[in-house]
Amino acid sequence: MHVPMTINQFLDRAALVAPDNVAIIDESDVLGNLGTLTYAEMRDRANGLSATLQQLGIREGDRVAIVSANSAKFLISFFGVSGSGRVLVPINYRLSKQDIAYIVEHSGASLVLVDPEVHDLVSDLRVPTIVLDGTDDAQLFAPLGERVRVAVDLSEDATCSINYTSGTTARPKGVELTHRNCYLNAMTFGWHLSVSDRDVLLHVLPMFHVNGWGMPYGATAMGAKHVVLRKVDGNEILDRVNREQVTLLCCAPAVVSSILDAHRARGKGSSVRSGVRIVVAGAPPPSKIVEQVETELGWEFIQIYGLTETSPLLTINRARPEWDDLAPSARATLLARAGVPAIGVEIAVSQSGEILARSNHVFRGYYNQEDATAEALEGGWFHTGDGGYLDGAFTVITDRKKDVIITGGENVSSIEVEDCLFRHEAVAEVAVIGTPDEKWGELVTALVVLRPGAVATKDELFAHCREHLAHFKAPKRIEFKEHLARTATGKLQKYKLREEYWKSPTTP
Ligand code: AMP
Repeated sequence: MHVPMTINQFLDRAALVAPDNVAIIDESDVLGNLGTLTYAEMRDRANGLSATLQQLGIREGDRVAIVSANSAKFLISFFGVSGSGRVLVPINYRLSKQDIAYIVEHSGASLVLVDPEVHDLVSDLRVPTIVLDGTDDAQLFAPLGERVRVAVDLSEDATCSINYTSGTTARPKGVELTHRNCYLNAMTFGWHLSVSDRDVLLHVLPMFHVNGWGMPYGATAMGAKHVVLRKVDGNEILDRVNREQVTLLCCAPAVVSSILDAHRARGKGSSVRSGVRIVVAGAPPPSKIVEQVETELGWEFIQIYGLTETSPLLTINRARPEWDDLAPSARATLLARAGVPAIGVEIAVSQSGEILARSNHVFRGYYNQEDATAEALEGGWFHTGDGGYLDGAFTVITDRKKDVIITGGENVSSIEVEDCLFRHEAVAEVAVIGTPDEKWGELVTALVVLRPGAVATKDELFAHCREHLAHFKAPKRIEFKEHLARTATGKLQKYKLREEYWKSPTTP
């Protein structure tokens, strides 16, 4: 028997087996919020959304874009739009108007759903727009009621979503994920994280980012509770974790730092719910942060590695029983690696040191970009663009290929140098880049943001690095900064940081 693997099965199952369980707790103080919904209500609203799209003449295969912070409506759209054979195009609401216009046009979206708080971003578009303010979208998000449920006969190879990648130097590319991709990623991820109906998932990660890494699908399948969070703020996260009894959350390393800072600022008397599983990816997590999550918060640190093109789960690093008795810093060092292949994933390293991957949740291709697709999938492997190596079964990421620093003919992993600087107590944020230099070719340069109130001299930081790193890896130039350019998902924008130095090289 062959039953198509489509994401519909997830919500249908939850509504069948746990109709009265709380499915979503929306943000309560936002225009158009949906309050608290059970799984039966979530399914009825997803069905209502499908029926209204049908009435509006949006056909199967048509693209529906959404520009929004996390919300119940976003969660429902994963099912109401994709589940009815339409293609969801989640767009990062922190992009510029021009980038959003480009994505809407490139994807050929016939409708744009927009959060009231960012309505301006799409006000110039010629594509029909519906504002998610509770009025403009009243029909769209009403439960199915008298309307007819849309009958769908979806293939698992139908496109589920097109997720545009951040785009560093070039225009963003549309990553086409099929139902099969999203289904298998969600199942595998859910299995590795032991997701169950006892889980309470706090949506810290933006839902636009690889469909919230597929957790909206995986958690729904099990009938877990979704708690919506719009504003990523360490204090707010701690409050919600305690108030809603959160058990699971996903985020980038920069967010982990903000949670730790908020916890410290609360002082010794305050307590936070322990045992939370925090799943971290998007950038290399410094081992010091891994250690602090375990020792200061009492949370389980789980690292994953992946890309939008891989739905995203490629590798996972979850502490093994044999690490239980290790000292915290030794455990942290082991957990700071990207991890072992997830079920159904094969990892290899090319001769040039690039991480390659094969799996059923690697994307179909870049939307309407055949050449870029052929290049990314050349030889039957997905080319990640990340440099790294294998340590037994473990993948270790050393750099984005284009971020490797070549100094005096030696390759230096910026990630390794950043990890070292992070271990200095005065350092809050750090980015290590190569800057032009006549003698060395590239100079290992560290851009450092100090903790508020902390004092450290450049010489002290130089000495710290020379003590812990091979000398050729230690930075030869250090600059203090107020902040570092990051993407909406917390990734350092190294190309931006480099720009300043490569435009007008100066000597340190
Ligand atoms: P995106 O497609 O926006 O999710 O970005 C994917 C990129 O994030 C990867 O190619 C890596 O460069 C980076 N990344 C994701 N997870 C990790 C990780 N655990 N460690 C290091 N880099 C990561």
